[in-house]
Amino acid sequence: MAIERTFSMIKPDATRRNLTGAITQMLEDAGLRVIASRRVWMSRREAEGFYAVHKERPFFGELVEFMSSAPTIVQVLEGENAIAKNREVMGATNPANAAEGTIRKVHALSIGENSVHGSDAPETAAQEIKYWFSDTEIVG
Ligand code: ADP
Ligand code: MG
Repeated sequence: MAIERTFSMIKPDATRRNLTGAITQMLEDAGLRVIASRRVWMSRREAEGFYAVHKERPFFGELVEFMSSAPTIVQVLEGENAIAKNREVMGATNPANAAEGTIRKVHALSIGENSVHGSDAPETAAQEIKYWFSDTEIVG
């Protein structure tokens, strides 16, 4: 299986509750390696740009408000099948539907305040990594 890189974010609801370490541990336990990491308090403009794909959705304003409400941790994860593996350990978007033992089942507060982001495909992973990191910050 191919070694991949994916983009991960620990969201404001989780940094507020001091869950950065607990969530990173769950990612590492799934076999993912953190090869870049930075704490960012994003602006509304940065949140709008990052989530531009959702700009027509009814929850867009709420999402931008939430994502710029407190610090996040942006990360690049590397491992076998990293994109799908990260999505699996994250769990479903709505924690009510997330499988037992997933990050969102264990930690998320709601469908909006759901603790983590993870890229959903190779193209979005490449785009999202580039949105937050320069090549020299990624040390594999
Ligand atoms: P995922 O993060 O699982 O890829 P989406 O890409 O569909 O989910 O949505 C992006 C983010 O927008 C979600 O993680 C969540 O924070 C927020 N969101 C999605 N759906 C809703 C909703 N119905 N109400 C409020 N926020 C939502
Ligand atoms: Mg998504």
